[in-house]
Amino acid sequence: MSEFDLIRRYFTRPTPGAILGVGDDAALLHVQDGMELAVSTDMLVSGTHFLPDTDPFLLGHKTLAVNLSDLAAMGAIPRWATLALSLPHADEDWLRRFSEGFYILAGEHGVELVGGDTTRGPLSLSVTIMGEVPRGQALRRSGAEVGDDIWVSGTLGNAALGLAYLQGQVVPTQDARAAGLAALHQPQPRVALGLALRGVASSAIDISDGLLADLGHILECSHAGAELEFDKIPARMPSGIEEGLLRHCVLSGGDDYELCFTVPASRRSQVAAIAERLQLPLTRIGSISSGTDCTVRSKDGDAMTIKENGYDHFA
Ligand code: ADP
Ligand code: MG
Repeated sequence: MSEFDLIRRYFTRPTPGAILGVGDDAALLHVQDGMELAVSTDMLVSGTHFLPDTDPFLLGHKTLAVNLSDLAAMGAIPRWATLALSLPHADEDWLRRFSEGFYILAGEHGVELVGGDTTRGPLSLSVTIMGEVPRGQALRRSGAEVGDDIWVSGTLGNAALGLAYLQGQVVPTQDARAAGLAALHQPQPRVALGLALRGVASSAIDISDGLLADLGHILECSHAGAELEFDKIPARMPSGIEEGLLRHCVLSGGDDYELCFTVPASRRSQVAAIAERLQLPLTRIGSISSGTDCTVRSKDGDAMTIKENGYDHFA
């Protein structure tokens, strides 16, 4: 199978939302009047982001999901993606499963694959995603104000628990294991939530590197601090889990792809209405404070000592 057969067979499908899709030197795209183009790239590298024997169907899903999550955090409507693939060899079975996982999620979110690049090399997957957002309405990291509530979607820590299990650090119950592996392999990007938060949230980010690390980016960009209540953070960890691992999973474990966002306290009922409409739990975990520190308080009000914030590739 030649490089071009491979592209035609596995990565070429109709793209009615593009002027020109796969097959020329570049795709041609039209951004609607009054919209801004939101662009983001996220890469998954074998051995760094996933174990080499990961099911290719799940990888296809996750490669796109982590990118959709970035658009969700901006409040953008997903439109197009390009895919840069580096593969050790053209394994047809692998390619079929990978492209299935990718296209199923793409179909669910109306994303069209309009181009990419394919080379031989160590397994690495990189997507550039493009979406549209009404002019001036994108959610940013920089808008949090003192007194705003801090919210997160879904539950945190499952993906980190799943990874700890795969790495042999913990043996969770069957339910916790299933929840952990699902969160790790098949994150659900919160695109509908991001759209609903336009005009409501003062700032937003997706949690890919851990709550404290990612909230830290909001704090840095917004020149603010935060007070969090550990017990309010929504986590479904197995009972009896060791305290250090619990804190690691909930506060600094990455890969959950939930949204963390801030909203003025006067809009609590709007957030509750969004949770109800989307059938997605949204939980208030603390508030934005003056200063620049992030303090996490335990049930008795004491500040907890935090050893790690989250994942950093170069730390
Ligand atoms: P060029 O040599 O001009 O860079 P390529 O031979 O790399 O073009 O790619 C041919 C066409 O196939 C281009 O339209 C490119 O965008 C598309 N393409 C290549 N690899 C992929 C891929 N993995 N997924 C989707 N489209 C791809
Ligand atoms: Mg090329």
